[in-house]
Amino acid sequence: MISRRKFLLASLLAPLGGCAARPIRFESYPFTLGVASGYPTLEGMALWTRLAPRPLEGGGMPPHAVDVRWEVAEDEAFSRIARSGNARAVAENAHAVHVEAGGLAPGRAYWYRFIAGGEASPVGRTRTAPRPGEGDERLRMALGSCQQYEQGFFTAHRRIAEDSPDLVAFVGDYIYESTWGNQHVRSHHISEPRTLAQYRDRYAQYKMDPDLQLCHATAPWIVTWDDHEVDNDYANDRSEDLDPRFLERRAAAYKAFYEHMPLRPSVLLAGGAMRIYGSLDWGSLATFHVLDNRQYRSHQACPRPLRGGSAMVPDSCRDRMDPRLTMLGEAQERWLDAGLGGSRAAWNFIVQQTLFAPAPRRNARQERVHWTDGWDGYPAARERLIRSLVERRPANPVILGGDVHAAMAASIHAIPQDPASPVVATEYVTTSITSQGFASMISGIAKENPHIHYAESQVRGYGLLELDRRKLEASHRGIGSVKVRDAKAYTANKGTIESGHPGIAR
Ligand code: FE
Ligand code: CA
Repeated sequence: MISRRKFLLASLLAPLGGCAARPIRFESYPFTLGVASGYPTLEGMALWTRLAPRPLEGGGMPPHAVDVRWEVAEDEAFSRIARSGNARAVAENAHAVHVEAGGLAPGRAYWYRFIAGGEASPVGRTRTAPRPGEGDERLRMALGSCQQYEQGFFTAHRRIAEDSPDLVAFVGDYIYESTWGNQHVRSHHISEPRTLAQYRDRYAQYKMDPDLQLCHATAPWIVTWDDHEVDNDYANDRSEDLDPRFLERRAAAYKAFYEHMPLRPSVLLAGGAMRIYGSLDWGSLATFHVLDNRQYRSHQACPRPLRGGSAMVPDSCRDRMDPRLTMLGEAQERWLDAGLGGSRAAWNFIVQQTLFAPAPRRNARQERVHWTDGWDGYPAARERLIRSLVERRPANPVILGGDVHAAMAASIHAIPQDPASPVVATEYVTTSITSQGFASMISGIAKENPHIHYAESQVRGYGLLELDRRKLEASHRGIGSVKVRDAKAYTANKGTIESGHPGIAR
């Protein structure tokens, strides 16, 4: 307590001189949220940490800037430092640190850490992407989505770390804004966030989880978001409850996302927008086309009266078929089409949020219904993406997704709802890390859709993808229980895709 008072006094007496960095002595350990790396290139990657001695109370930092030293080493003991430098942690960014490490060698592992005020962060392991033909024979990657904190422990992240992946992709619902579901094992410490300060505290609570920290410290991540990073079922500028100030809330949530992710500062755009879609090459083995399905999409068709957000709609909702509906927005669609055309990679992963294959089911009246928040709400946009795959012919397209809280595998047909048309891509959907499944919805979908080969809503876990030039082995990894700590992982299902033969071989 004494040190805290001294600390506060010192920050009050100090002149409030803009961004000038000042030496600091922390009242308590500042690296409570761990470290992370992301988006590896041939010569570097993004490195992240945030100074937060009191993480659940706004961070607990003084208002001035603090210099943070970063080091990237060739060995875990830091005896051979490859690159180092100073980054400035400023209050405007919640004292988050984003470093673009460069000048490294391609295709190898590195270790990194941060140092400030005489304290050192945990050590993270990361890697650079390989050059084509040099160390790109194989890749092991993990896929995660949907981690409602209250519904379970993040054991899946510990098991991912034990699998030692080269890369982790996370496709949304990293935080949940709301409390829902049953059989909670822990609680959100604040109610639904709406302001920047509240979103920061929500991220801080999730990021204090030791299993999640371990996974970030094990491999570089690529990330995209879905709705719960902001608000359930939002679309572009429209929220479910038609909040007239939604864009302010969205900007706050986007900024907090940036402040807690290993992203490059160049993702920040004017006016609270953020460009998180982009691509990443793993030698000539794989290209990852990472999409943003939320920020640019059209509003969902046929919403409930006086509401935004999703609905289950029958075929009579004609607005759903409007060719102007977009999931990605025009600029991102054009970018993706060009990226698919330009890729020379042996595998092309489309890394996005939700189920891509058509998934209608029957309601209680036996009418066919479609869920408007997923690609089924934007069938013309789905057809444009499929046309792009057919015309640009990228090798071995695989669509990765999450969101539905179920492990799924599907074949994507040239005419998506016609199983007699050729298979043009494979879809692999990871189940949730913790978020509870929707059993009757998923079994209803499986019954109606023969192109969906596998659908299991009662497994929590992650995806494990291992590939070389000949084949991709895609495992759905389950966690025994997310209601107890440290449960074991097991393989719930595994499929192999041979190069040149889209669709999952069972
Ligand atoms: Fe989710
Ligand atoms: Ca959702």
